[in-house]
Amino acid sequence: MSKDYKYLFGPVPSRRLGMSLGVDLVLPKTCSLDCVYCESGRTTVLTTQCSDDVPSGEVIQELSVYLSSHPDLDYITFSGCGEPLLNKGISDVVRFLKSQFSEYSLALLTNGTLFYRNEIRKNVLDIDVIVASLDAVSENVFKQVNRPDPGLDPQTIIKGLIDLRQEFTHELWLEIFIVPGLNDTHEELEKLSEAARNIGADRIQLNSLDRPGTETWVKTLEPSERQRVLDYFSGIEIIGTHAEFEQKKLISDEKDVENKILGLIKRRPCTVEDIELSIPVGKPLLKSCLGHLCDQGLVTSEKQKRGEFYRTT
Ligand code: SF4
Repeated sequence: MSKDYKYLFGPVPSRRLGMSLGVDLVLPKTCSLDCVYCESGRTTVLTTQCSDDVPSGEVIQELSVYLSSHPDLDYITFSGCGEPLLNKGISDVVRFLKSQFSEYSLALLTNGTLFYRNEIRKNVLDIDVIVASLDAVSENVFKQVNRPDPGLDPQTIIKGLIDLRQEFTHELWLEIFIVPGLNDTHEELEKLSEAARNIGADRIQLNSLDRPGTETWVKTLEPSERQRVLDYFSGIEIIGTHAEFEQKKLISDEKDVENKILGLIKRRPCTVEDIELSIPVGKPLLKSCLGHLCDQGLVTSEKQKRGEFYRTT
């Protein structure tokens, strides 16, 4: 990915969607939530008001240039540093892709908080896969895990997801992010499993920390706890690993590799192994580029359970 693209990133190997071109539809970091586990850092604009701060025309322009070479992608995914549905023009982008590049499947990663609004549900009906989050049903747990915009409450959000399920005929997945100590109690897991059943998503995915989150006290769900949590849900799908996805070739030359690395890790911290899946030029070159970027003060690293994570400064 050239650094000239402002709103496109990747393609990145997504654990759920294979090789996915990311489209960032909001300025960092605009969201209706400020989750303690967010890998994009604290929310600086906490809002439920949609805007055109990222103009849909500019996004469409970038997409038409990038896709003109018909790259090999599994999905084009609306995601990035914030809540994509806060972009007023998302329906224009969807319409453009469906009319001009219908060979690509579209995915939306959303926090699911805005589907209580009719117009928001209408905007997403042509998307192929929606992955919506729901981490809490109780008001107090919702506030602790997701630190929402004050106008939001879990019951309204769940009702919005149920309405979406009625109207949206494609794949709807529900992602539940477990924050040990907050939403993994018996009471909350029972409520979450009941809400998930009422929503009727096609798949439920359980997630827990595997990259540094916003708050350093957030821990991953211990493997010994996994089964206990899983038992609350039937038919649950555990998210796979990056290694499951086919590597796709990208161009290599040192400067280009450094730009690609910056584009990738500015959205989310990655290990060398994660980076290698998206930029398959071999670990020695990646390590040398990362070392160079660290020396320049553009990148820092942090040791976590899964390895050394690199992020932009
Ligand atoms: S995890 Fe998603 S919903 Fe939560 S603050 Fe980050 S971008 Fe927003």
